[in-house]
Amino acid sequence: MNKLERIDFPLKQQPNGDYLWLNLFRINSGNSGPHVHIQANVHGAELQGNLVIHELMDFFINNPFKGSITFIPFANPSAVNQKSGMYTQGRYNPVSGKNWNRNYFELLKNKDSEFNLKDFVTQNISHNEAQISENFKSVLFNICDNLEKKTAERGLQNEDGHFNLLLQKVASTADIVLDLHTGPVATRYIYTTDHQLKSALNFQFPHYLIIPPEFDGAMDEASFMPWVSLSEEFKNQGRELKNNFESYTIELGSEERISFKEANLDSKRILNYLLSKNVHDLKIEELPKTSIKTCLLKDYKSYYAPRGGLYEFCFAPGEAFKKGDVLAKSLNFKPVKGNESFSKAVEEVYAVEDGIVINHSTSASLAGGHPLYQVMENIQ
Ligand SMILES: [Zn+2]
Repeated sequence: MNKLERIDFPLKQQPNGDYLWLNLFRINSGNSGPHVHIQANVHGAELQGNLVIHELMDFFINNPFKGSITFIPFANPSAVNQKSGMYTQGRYNPVSGKNWNRNYFELLKNKDSEFNLKDFVTQNISHNEAQISENFKSVLFNICDNLEKKTAERGLQNEDGHFNLLLQKVASTADIVLDLHTGPVATRYIYTTDHQLKSALNFQFPHYLIIPPEFDGAMDEASFMPWVSLSEEFKNQGRELKNNFESYTIELGSEERISFKEANLDSKRILNYLLSKNVHDLKIEELPKTSIKTCLLKDYKSYYAPRGGLYEFCFAPGEAFKKGDVLAKSLNFKPVKGNESFSKAVEEVYAVEDGIVINHSTSASLAGGHPLYQVMENIQ
């Protein structure tokens, strides 16, 4: 049996003096191997990842493996506790208005990082891969540490980045970072870059969105971008360095719900991926045969409500539709002036191209311009 340890970080002191805590769990195998960082619930309503972490903890407590794993369930206590009636808001920081998953730091490019990648590569050009990786992880950890000190000079900016930087600092020594989210009402899908796609297929997820290797403030991008830049700079200086680092945003169905049964399958898919990364060597049984669909981010299209009203969603997440199909029907009485215009109360929304529904809005009650669906088109 492997030992599970808990480390508590005071995250934020509330006005009444009480603290919100980040509870971080670690399991060390005692064998050398990759370090894996898995966090869940950065968006408050996206709950399923906490169950998946529980399943994975159970596996890694009870089975031999290589390396070490950090788990952070309930990674954002501010967000998960942010209820409005019975609904969990939790996607945006209510104080700053910012999306909790767009506040991470671009570590190598931040003006306070005081780090020169060219110099680092010149100093490491003849080291072996393992040595370079260890040196670079130390650099990333130190950058986070310096940024933390710098941003705290005039008091902790708790509403804008301190929380994200803490997660980044914990993840800075990892070889694999998995950020567990959900969509609104959604199927299961993964964001991956092209350079990670072959490896990502080992998750055996039904849907993959291929994003460009760019920084837009999310945890997966904040984690993989330094390693992408590192390989590029090695190439500039004449050496091909294989980039073994991987990070993903994993979308586990719908928000505001959990399923222990689905968490068991979710965890098997993650374990199948971790098997391919040599974190463990136990064959994962009972993985269902999955037909895998991929599309580029540019073909991940949003439909918006063409008018305010109540909307019925005619296709469920994961379902395929054809160009011209009725995707949604809306009800709005404003166009009805009498008998002749009564039929205008109901309108239909038609599909512009063939596609697959990835997610749709949680609410049937939408203002004009609210998001209706997100769909994959030009599917491979
Ligand atoms: Zn999310």
